Formats: sequence, C-alpha cells, structure tokens
Amino acid sequence: MTQQASILIVDDVPANIQLLAEALKSEYRIRVANHGSKALEIARSDQPPDLILLDIMMPGMDGYEVCQKLKSDPATSAIPIVFVTAKTSVDDEAYGLDLGAVDYIPKPFHLPVVRARVKTHINLKLKTDLLEELALIDGLTYIPNRRRFDQLLEQEWLRARREQHWLALVMLDVDHFKAYNDNYGHGAGDDCLREVANAIKNSLQRPGDAIARYGGEEFVLLLPNTDQAGARATAERARAAVFTRNLPHAHSDTADRVTVSLGVAATQPDSNKPNALLKAADNALYEAKRSGRNRLHEVSV
Ligand code: GH3
Ligand code: MG
Ligand code: MG
Repeated sequence: MTQQASILIVDDVPANIQLLAEALKSEYRIRVANHGSKALEIARSDQPPDLILLDIMMPGMDGYEVCQKLKSDPATSAIPIVFVTAKTSVDDEAYGLDLGAVDYIPKPFHLPVVRARVKTHINLKLKTDLLEELALIDGLTYIPNRRRFDQLLEQEWLRARREQHWLALVMLDVDHFKAYNDNYGHGAGDDCLREVANAIKNSLQRPGDAIARYGGEEFVLLLPNTDQAGARATAERARAAVFTRNLPHAHSDTADRVTVSLGVAATQPDSNKPNALLKAADNALYEAKRSGRNRLHEVSV
C-alpha cells in the first residue's frame, strides 16, 4: 500500500467527529462532513474514502438516506459504510444493515472497539480493491486485459463524443506466431509475448495512450484525442519498436525476427457505438496481413 487508507467521518456533532478523528488519525487519512450532502460530495469526488463512519440522526438528510443514495449509485456503492449511532435497538440495526451498511457501532464509543472494527473493514476493502485491480490485468504480460480495455473504450468513446475529440484505435497482431510456438516452444512463446507487450508499451508517448492484450497474440492501443495522422505515427513507432527489439524468428516468412502487423482506425465519435471503430481497425489489420505483414494499414471510419 503506497497511500494511507482514508476514512470519512460524518456526524452533525463536532465533539463526536473530534473523538473519532483523534482515535483514528494516527493510522488513517481522515476527512469529515457535518451533514449529509457534504458526505455525498466527498464520496462522489475523484478521491473517495475507503470507509465511511456515518451518524444516523442528523438534521436535514439523515444517515439512512445518505446510505441509500451511496448504495444506489454504482460510483459509490462499493464504499463500505459503518453506522455510528445512539439508535441501538435490534430493529434499527437490522434496518441499517438492510440498507447495505457493513457494520454498526453504538454510541457512546468504546474507542478500542471502534479501532478494531475499522481495521477489519479497511483490510477487507483494500483486499477487494486489489482483487478488482488484478481482475483487469493480463496475467502473462501484466498490461491491462480485454475486460479493462472494453471499459476504457466505452469511457473514452463517451468522453470523445462529449468533447468532440478524435479517438483512434490500433489493433496489433504478432506475425507467424504459431510457427514461433511450434519451433521455440510455448514457454519461449510466452516470453516473446511479454517482450512484444513491453516494446509496444514503451513506444507510447502520451500518458493517456493505453495498451491492452486483446487476446492470444493480439494487442490493442486506444489513443484519446488522436486523429488519423497521429494514430499512424503512433502505430509506426510501435511497429518499429517491436522490429528493433530484434527477437529472432527463424521460421517467419516475413523477416528474420518477430514482427507485428497493425490496423489503424480513427474517428470523431458520433451517436454510433464504438464497435464500428473496432471493426474498422480489425479490417485494416486483415489488410496489413494480406499485403505482406510487418506493416500498418489504415482505414477511415
Ligand atoms: P499471422 O501472421 O497470420 O497472424 O499468423 P499466426 O501464426 O500468428 O496466427 P495464428 O492465429 O494462426 O496463430 C496464433 C498463435 O498464437 C496460435 C496460438 O497458440 C498462439 N498463442 C495465443 N496465445 C498464446 C499465449 O498466451 N502464449 C503462447 N505461447 N502462444 C499463444
Ligand atoms: Mg498472428
Ligand atoms: Mg491472431
């Protein structure tokens, strides 16, 4: 963990906030809100907390309502909520847990119990985050996987449409890779894919450019705010990066080393779905293969 886990304390009584903050501040980054809408604002920010300690009885929006709102929004539904409250009947408790809270801490506080429960929930949250992160990484090359790419494409498509920017996509496929595996073995094939992924990744120049493993020996680049000419230049750098890595391939009909073919497509997204862009890049890749490999082909969308 590079950063301290963060906790949002929500309570309308300053003395309660202070007590909890004092008890937790040595181990966590603490943020506070003294009413419901402030809590929602912090939870929805681009730095959401890892855990929310939420008072129930507050003027205006009460804790139940805050909880409901957070749980019904996919952007905040995964943040664990612990109710901290003087409402301690079993019915209150059941109601709060039904709303999606993970735990209930009664007032007045017994601080060692508060600390212990917070620690448990923070640990669970960090493990869940880690698992989610791993589920989006390709296990062989450690670059983003197809699932992550699908999310990114959706996200960048919408952004480009909103901001009326270009979006480019490059499909890359290793040439004669079956022959590579057949002759050098599957383990060497795996090493080769790692090298190719690295070479392509290091050839990217803009922080927003993304690479993913699309499947088998296929990779994809997603280039926000990039027109056809920019995409062509980026694709050519990727091709050259793999070529100059000079991974010997004595059984390729194309060169003495491992090469890639690339299909390039760029568009200014309209109301259409991103599938057309994918399809165009795929068609272009097919054309690059057909016309000799170790080259790129581009189509306009
Ligand atoms: P082309 O130049 O037309 O792309 O020919 P190709 O041989 O690269 O294409 P083909 O689709 O016939 O073969 C792809 C090969 O990639 C077959 C498959 O075993 C291999 N492959 C796919 N995923 C992996 C992997 O994770 N590791 C290894 N070692 N090989 C893989
Ligand atoms: Mg191939
Ligand atoms: Mg292939």
